[in-house]
Amino acid sequence: MKIILEREKCIGCGACAAICSKHWELKDDGKTDLIGSNLNSEGNYEKEITDIECNQEASEGCPVNCIKIIK
Ligand code: SF4
Repeated sequence: MKIILEREKCIGCGACAAICSKHWELKDDGKTDLIGSNLNSEGNYEKEITDIECNQEASEGCPVNCIKIIK
């Protein structure tokens, strides 16, 4: 399973960090970081996970749909 953050689209609302602080953290530039992720060839951030934990809720809570989960 993989989580992908299209960080360019993030509007910094903080919902993901509030819902799932283990994986998401709002940064000083006003956008969120997917903790422990790497930049991929498409310019998005991604990381592999084995347990979805609270990331489903974070994805569903994002108002601009910039958090994708690939199962
Ligand atoms: S919920 Fe979406 S828009 Fe809001 S901070 Fe997280 S990634 Fe950005």
